[in-house]
Amino acid sequence: MKAVVLLGPPGSGKGTLAERLADKLDLVHLSTGDMLRDEVARGTDLGREAKKYMDGGELVPDQLILDMVGGRLTGPRGVLLDGFPRTRAQAEGLEEYTAVDAGLFLELSRDEVVRRLSSRRVCKECGANYNLLTKPPAEDGRCDRCGGELYQRPDDTVEVIARRYDVYLKDSAPLVEYYEKKGILVRVDGSRSPDDVYTQALSALGNA
Ligand code: AMP
Repeated sequence: MKAVVLLGPPGSGKGTLAERLADKLDLVHLSTGDMLRDEVARGTDLGREAKKYMDGGELVPDQLILDMVGGRLTGPRGVLLDGFPRTRAQAEGLEEYTAVDAGLFLELSRDEVVRRLSSRRVCKECGANYNLLTKPPAEDGRCDRCGGELYQRPDDTVEVIARRYDVYLKDSAPLVEYYEKKGILVRVDGSRSPDDVYTQALSALGNA
């Protein structure tokens, strides 16, 4: 496969699914959110510019995103895209680099998005995701995988979550129809357990 796009609201489990799916399908997992957070942590020009948008839950401008991710889309291996594209302009930009095989839509209600994101914790060291309600770490505040400190993303506060969801509805949700019209959309119920979501996703992609 050349490229699989993961669609769905923030907190629908795209990152968690992407890790397992990329491994199984031998795709490179590309998360624009992770790439941007890395730019912010390293204090690059792009990171400083992107942070202005990220802190408020707004989208980083399309051209910055396409410039950042473009070079990673043309390697010999296929890609699993997590958090990109998020606008129609990005979806069209993506097609200039590679063909898209499937758009996998993780469906989740607004209430569940708010519940999940406000209890999400992330490892500062390795980026692993936890959830205080559904997937707590074994030791309070510490990553099971590497022992790193867990933190709450600055955009996982109730106000910013609400804004991110509105931005999702306005700019990103229309991509569901965009891929549906191309006949490559598959739907997965994101409210299920991570194992169930993974199994559903594999069978929806024809790889069960
Ligand atoms: P995420 O980790 O995917 O939830 O992304 C965190 C934040 O990074 C978003 O709220 C946006 O501010 C920014 N971001 C990530 N991916 C994109 C994208 N494809 N287009 C625009 N902004 C993005």
